Amino acid sequence: MKKLTTAPNLAIATLWADMLCHAGVPTTIQRAYNSSLAGQVPPDQALPELWLTDADNFDRAERLLDELRQPVSRLWLCTACREMIEGPFEQCWNCGAAMP
Ligand SMILES: [Zn+2]
Repeated sequence: MKKLTTAPNLAIATLWADMLCHAGVPTTIQRAYNSSLAGQVPPDQALPELWLTDADNFDRAERLLDELRQPVSRLWLCTACREMIEGPFEQCWNCGAAMP
């Protein structure tokens, strides 16, 4: 077992662990239910942690996590108003049309 990282909350910890497990990197969440202690213990000790079952997966897991933390960025052309849309938007900021 090797600690990979600390997640800001349980929802994100679950998302990351699911993604890593699907990518073939067995991951478990520790301290998942400590958030109910928030206010009684230092905040960094109340956050859920991600632990790798196999420490050999550490480098790969870090790369996967980096990819997941990157904001989604795309470039697409709105078919309705011909505006170029850049960034994580799935809707045209100009006319509101959905990404094709
Ligand atoms: Zn548009």
